[in-house]
Amino acid sequence: MGLLCGLIVWLVLDPLQSRALGEIFQKELQQQLEQRARDSRHRFQQYLGQWRLTATGLAQNWRLVEYVKSPAWAQEREKPKTYLNRLPAWMAPAPVSLGAVTPSQIVLLDQDLEPREIFHRQDLPFPLERAASRYPGGDGALLTTLWKAPFLLVWAGVAQPVESKAAILMLIIPLDTIFLLDSQQAVADDETVVALLEGDQQRILASSDQTKVTANMLLEQLRSRYLITSQSITDFADWDQNVQFSTFVSRKRVEATAERILSTERRERFLGALAFVGVFSLLFFLVSMRLHRLLNRIASFGRRALGINQPVSEKGNQLLLLEAWIPDFFALVSEAVEQARLRHELQIRESEALKSALLDSSLDSIVTVDCSGMVVETNGTAERTFGYTREQMLGESLGVKLFHPDDRQQFGKLLQRYNQSAELVAASAPLQLRAFDAQGDEMPVETVVMPILLEHTTLFTVYIRDISARRRAEREIESLATFASDNPSPVLRVNRRGVITYANAASAPLLAYWSLEPQQTLPLYWRNLVLETLEEGGVREIELSGDEQIFSLLLAPFSEQEYVHIYGRDITQVRNAEQQSRQHQSELVHVCRVSTMGEMATGLAHELNQPLAAIVNFASGCVRRLQAGIGGEAELVDAMAQITVQAERAGEIIKRLRSLVGKNASEHTLVNLNDLVIEVASFIEYDAAKKGVDVRLALEQGGLPVRVDLVQIEQVLLNLMRNAMDAMQQTEADQRILVLSTSRLNVREVAVMISDTGPGIPPEVMEKLFDPFFSTKQSGMGMGLAISYRIIEDHNGSIRVTSEKGKGTLFSVQLPSNPDLKLPGL
Ligand code: ADP
Repeated sequence: MGLLCGLIVWLVLDPLQSRALGEIFQKELQQQLEQRARDSRHRFQQYLGQWRLTATGLAQNWRLVEYVKSPAWAQEREKPKTYLNRLPAWMAPAPVSLGAVTPSQIVLLDQDLEPREIFHRQDLPFPLERAASRYPGGDGALLTTLWKAPFLLVWAGVAQPVESKAAILMLIIPLDTIFLLDSQQAVADDETVVALLEGDQQRILASSDQTKVTANMLLEQLRSRYLITSQSITDFADWDQNVQFSTFVSRKRVEATAERILSTERRERFLGALAFVGVFSLLFFLVSMRLHRLLNRIASFGRRALGINQPVSEKGNQLLLLEAWIPDFFALVSEAVEQARLRHELQIRESEALKSALLDSSLDSIVTVDCSGMVVETNGTAERTFGYTREQMLGESLGVKLFHPDDRQQFGKLLQRYNQSAELVAASAPLQLRAFDAQGDEMPVETVVMPILLEHTTLFTVYIRDISARRRAEREIESLATFASDNPSPVLRVNRRGVITYANAASAPLLAYWSLEPQQTLPLYWRNLVLETLEEGGVREIELSGDEQIFSLLLAPFSEQEYVHIYGRDITQVRNAEQQSRQHQSELVHVCRVSTMGEMATGLAHELNQPLAAIVNFASGCVRRLQAGIGGEAELVDAMAQITVQAERAGEIIKRLRSLVGKNASEHTLVNLNDLVIEVASFIEYDAAKKGVDVRLALEQGGLPVRVDLVQIEQVLLNLMRNAMDAMQQTEADQRILVLSTSRLNVREVAVMISDTGPGIPPEVMEKLFDPFFSTKQSGMGMGLAISYRIIEDHNGSIRVTSEKGKGTLFSVQLPSNPDLKLPGL
């Protein structure tokens, strides 16, 4: 196929190309010939010019110049002097020539243009007078013909002194074959001939090759053999005849060249075409191979895809096989298409079902109406929201059915707007309308209308959303918004820089205290508090005592927004109540103490009894001795001293009692804890003996220095001891043991322990043990432990209780001590 194509292309293109090439060649040849002719003529003219220069050179030769000055030249002569085959004296011995050309005559003319001396190279007569008559004056040259032969005449004036006669040198040069050949300097090849032509008759005057182009031949005779270009000789316009310069190029030679070029070119074209055909065939082969494989693959793919056996065969034309197989293929494809269509329909049905399910499950009521507002379709939500069935709504006017009479117009206008302007394809802005359900209950709704542009008509989808819940929420938010402003307690918002950005009405006393208005900056102390709160991130509570009110301020940071909220609480009354309660408490403590003292009175009376009895004894002893006049002065003095000691002791007891009952202000003094225990133990000594309690002391050696309010700590110890004795009432008489012990826990802490063998404290009692007014005793006030707890707390100490049912209870009081505390005398 490739070869055939190549051949056809070749047969069509070859003659065309050959002709086109021939034309190009002819044109090119013409130009070449003209160029060559111009070159030949140019060389010829240059050669003529050189002869002119030669003549000038000869005229200036010193021999000639000398000769013209000599008397020989000056004398008159009848006839010109002729030299033939010998050189005249005025001429250099070297021959006058250019290449192979020599002048046929060299003539010296005088000022009258008379030939005076003639040098003949050839014995050829020449009409010298005629030649001389054409002298143009000065140096010059002329072309002429004589006896049908062309000649070049060249003149040059000989340099001479003024007094001698003038002399003119004239060269006569025949324009023959040699001249023409020489003029071309052998550039022209032997097939090219140059010639001089007589223009009018078109006759040859002289040629560079006499054998081919002979003188006197007519140009017409030569045209068959030569391509001829004739030109006039421009530099020598005064040629006395119409002489032209012709260039003859051999036709045979040109044709041979043309033939050679054309054949070479054709050979190359042929080779090119051959290469083209080769490449084309190869490509064709490769493409067909590829196509073959592709068809093979299509066939096997089809077989696999459709599960049929046709048509793959390893060899043979796959196209033919495919053609036979294509109907089967189409049958199978249309079957597959049918199946796909069925599947698609099923999918559409499913998607329709899905869509309607989606519509039904939409939160909005969706109602489709036509352009007059009549219901065309509705979803389940609409049925549920308004309580109408779909059938009840279809064909009804949506506006009349659902909307409030005052709002129907608004809805109607919206539909009208869409009806008038077909370009409105976007949904409308939501309309807030009032709607009624089937029960006649009103609800606020938001309505959006979306046009559906169908081919012949326009429908509208109306989305109706029940916004009662949203309205409620909005109202809730509105009421919440007034939360802070309605708050009777101060609420403020302060930003990071301490500027009060919000303050409610109740904040007025606070602002007055700071002397600030809202949007002003808090004082430095408060600014720093705000910053610290923001940085630490925790809530902090600060108390602020104004002129009349006391506020508790809660600073809550909102780090993300760089705000601190200040919630104030007027705690003036709370603080006042606390103050009062404290007063009550101290009075209560006093009362309690007095009551304790009442109970202790018997004990104290017994104690006072001893010194008083001793005083009575000593005093009556003294009286007796004085009355009897016995005993010395020394004895009396001793007795009196004893009386004083005992009276002091009694005074001491009274003083202690007073101090215990008195409402003295708290006063901390440095004491030995052991002394306190011994002293209080002495108070209960009597009572204990009465109740059959065995009081045992186990005190730390070396004393325990504490800085305490003596009276208060004594009161605590008294309370604890009394409770212990009370508890042991139910204990067997010989088992009632009260142990009072002290110890140093560490350098900073000392303790006093009161343990009894009572019944122990049940857990339910243990829980309320330190509560005020909690007592299990009939006549108990329930203040003893509460006050004790408070007193120990005020001393930065602590009270701990351990109790074991049926075994007893241990109260331990820890008090702070100090290594620096030194008891006097220890
Ligand atoms: P009061 O002695 O007036 O009842 P207290 O505050 O001193 O008030 O004691 C409260 C209660 O704690 C007592 O009623 C008693 O039930 C219980 N209690 C105190 N000490 C002991 C103790 N050592 N053993 C058993 N119960 C005790």
